Formats: sequence, structure tokens, C-alpha cells
Amino acid sequence: MKKVKDLNIVVVGGARSGAAVAVLLENAGAKVFVTDSNAIGGFQKEVLATNDIAFEENGHSLRARQAEMVVVSPGVPDEAPIIQYFLNNDIPVNSEIEIASWFCKSPIVAITGSNGKTTTTSWLQHIWKTADKPALVAGNIGRAVSEVVLDTSPEKDLILEVSSFQLDHISRFRPKTATILNITPDHLNRYQNRFDFYAASKMRIIKNQQPDDFFVYNFDDPVLKSQIIKANIKEDGPARIPFSITEQLSSGAFVRKGEIIIRLNDTELSLMPVEKLSLKGNHNLGNALAASLMAVLHGVSAEALSTGLETFEGVEHRLEQVRILNGVRYVNDSKATNVNAVWFALQSFKSPVVLIIGGQDKGNNYKELTDQIRQKVHTVIAIGEAKEAIRSQISRDALYYYEAESMEEAVQTAKKQARKGEVVLLSPACASFDMFKNFEHRGEVFKQAVAKLKA
Ligand code: ADP
Repeated sequence: MKKVKDLNIVVVGGARSGAAVAVLLENAGAKVFVTDSNAIGGFQKEVLATNDIAFEENGHSLRARQAEMVVVSPGVPDEAPIIQYFLNNDIPVNSEIEIASWFCKSPIVAITGSNGKTTTTSWLQHIWKTADKPALVAGNIGRAVSEVVLDTSPEKDLILEVSSFQLDHISRFRPKTATILNITPDHLNRYQNRFDFYAASKMRIIKNQQPDDFFVYNFDDPVLKSQIIKANIKEDGPARIPFSITEQLSSGAFVRKGEIIIRLNDTELSLMPVEKLSLKGNHNLGNALAASLMAVLHGVSAEALSTGLETFEGVEHRLEQVRILNGVRYVNDSKATNVNAVWFALQSFKSPVVLIIGGQDKGNNYKELTDQIRQKVHTVIAIGEAKEAIRSQISRDALYYYEAESMEEAVQTAKKQARKGEVVLLSPACASFDMFKNFEHRGEVFKQAVAKLKA
């Protein structure tokens, strides 16, 4: 572990992970100061005060520059003047997972990717539980790593959902098993609109891995493949273990005649039929293959693994079935905050779809959905600030196109359009902040509107 005792450490950003890492460091003997350009939440303030940690909010004073080391929260971009100051003055800037990893005694199972992180992390949590195998789960999901890291031990795995922002400032973070599920455009505004910068940030997850570590990756993802070639992983790097939903591999996880096959060290295991997976759609098949590899590599038995894959109930707001009314299935996929997630959502349905899409636009290319809309979406209903972009790019691809001012109106229109056997899908491709507090709120409002519909 790096020495932190008596070090002046400034934590930039006082939300959940910022407050948690401040407490961790203060208790390890560092002199911690928390600074936030916005207001700090009441709960976090209480945590900081209880632990005698000095903090400021709504701006950074000169005191915030008195740092020998810095921890930056995932929400703070490198362009922020205060971070620029530290970087220009060679003051080390770390992310919260980097710091927490110094205290970690557990093998780390880390999951990143543009889509599917939370689903796969929760699926792993369920599999470990089914196998009666001790685990802590943290990161982008639920609790911050700093909150749980003192409970780690070599007998317990730490299952970690990791975002690219957390990977931007690591130096020693070293997962026993690192997984990249996919790399598709997202958050480009944080990477100077450079997809290659964003992709490179995801690849940092394997940066410190050694030959006895594992790197599980999606063989079907062209971006990931080219990044792996670019990374030029050598003998001193991790063992690479691919998964594929389309190709049969000599090593890794894949599908043969409808069966999930795990092939490691020339030993083949026929795990279970794909159709028994509890979550449907090709994207979830990919998530399941990744989860299977991670589980097998960490000693989960085939029996517990297949039970876990069969009985997982899924995560709220991710292709969550809300209600069947008059034979129409209403599905909440509010967490689909980029175009790729919508593409996979549409792919998972065979029946015709009424699609509710829109919100705060991120410079999306909705045309990527054109083929699928022509094939199976007869009605598109656009909401939020993105309406104009959606209208100009895809309104002519569907038979019917509507715009709605509220979620309630969108759901009412969807009900009128949908026939028995069809699906009404909220899969927005956008951020939610133009109309809602966050994606969870958007999903709740959708579910309430669906609950109110009369037969
Ligand atoms: P993340 O935590 O990476 O944002 P989630 O598991 O919360 O991912 O899922 C986000 C959205 O992406 C949901 O709409 C979900 O249905 C979809 N999704 C899940 N797994 C994948 C995948 N492997 N590829 C593409 N989309 C996915």
C-alpha cells in the first residue's frame, strides 16, 4: 500500500464515493480535505462531519489546492480547472477505486463495458450467492468500493462494477479477473469527442494485470478486438479468455447447437441450453457467457453456475417487464441511455414493437436503428429534447410517428397503437435530465403511467 499517513490529500467531489474515500483515508491517518463545486448532499455532509473531515462546497478555495495527493470523483472531468492545476503541477491524481484497491485483501473481479455492467455484476452476485461463495459487491453499483474495502479478505471475492471514469486515474489497480463486455460510443463529451480515447480508457482495466490474472473479453466486438491488437498484450500480460455468441472458439465460452460451452485448458464443459437462461436477448447471452467464464475461473461449480444463470431475476429498469394489458407487454428499459442499448433491446423482441424514445440528446446517431425500426417497430413516439433529432433522422422509418409532451401522454398514445401480442417498449437512447431526476425516476414515471392504464 502507498503511504498515506500524514499526507495532505484533497478529494474533489463530495458525493457517495468521494465521501467514502475521504473517510477511508482519514482513518488511515491522512489529512483529508473535501472540495466540491456544487452543494454536498446532507447525508454526505453528516458522514464527513462525524469523521471530523474538513470540507467546502459550491466552489473551490485556495485551500483546495494545498494537496500532496488528490482523489478525483468520477463525475469531475479532467478539464475542470482544479484538476488541470493538479495535473500541471505534477500532483498525483487518483480515482477512488485506485485508492480503495490499496486497502483491498480480496481477489478483484472487475467488470467494465459500455453496456451490461450492472446486469452482469448483479448476475455474478446472484451466481456467487447460489454457489454459497462469499463476495462483496461494489463500485458503480450500490456501495462505493471505499465503503466495503475494509471488509475484504483473501477468502472473499470483491465483485466490482467499474466505469471508464474510474479507470482514467488508476496507477496500480489490478483485478484478478478483468472483463470488458463491449465498447460502443458513450460519454464521448468526456473524451474530447474521441472514441479512441474512450476505448483506450476501458482498456486500462488490464494495465496492471500479470500472467496469473485473467482478461475475459467479447470476441464479437470489433472495437475491442482492435484495441487488444493495439494493446499488444505480451507474455507478461494476463491470460486472454474470449467469449462469443457467433463463433465456436478453441478456448473460452461460446454456443454450439443451442448449448453454452465453456472450454478452458482443453477441457470442455457443456453447461446448459441457451433457452434456459433467465434473461433473454443476444446481449444477455453475451453477458451470461462473460459471467460463466468469470464464475468458472473463480471456482464456482457447474451446477451452481447453471442454477444461477437460470434463476436470476434481472435488474430494475433494464428490459424490465412491467405489465401485460390486453395482450400487450409493457417493458421498461429506462437505463438504455445510448443507441447501442436500444439496438440490443429491439433485437431481443420477435413481436412488433411500439417504441418510446428520447430525452436529453447526447449527439446520438439514431440512424443506427433504421433497419430494426423498419423490421419491427410500427410506431415511434418521441419525447424530450431529442424530439427534433429523432424526427429528422428516423421518423420516416416507422409507419407511424408521434411526439409526446409527457411520459403519460406517450404511454397513452402507445396504448392506442399497440395490438394484442405486441410490445410497448420504453428504451430512450438518451439521458433523462431534461424531464426527470435520473433514469430511475424516468422508469418509475413510466411504470406509474402503465399501472394507471385501463383495460
Ligand atoms: P451499464 O451498467 O453498463 O449501463 P446495464 O446493465 O445497466 O448496463 O444496462 C444498460 C442498458 O443496456 C439496458 O438497456 C440493457 O438492457 C442494455 N444491455 C445490457 N447488456 C448489454 C450488452 N451486453 N450489450 C448491449 N446492451 C446491453
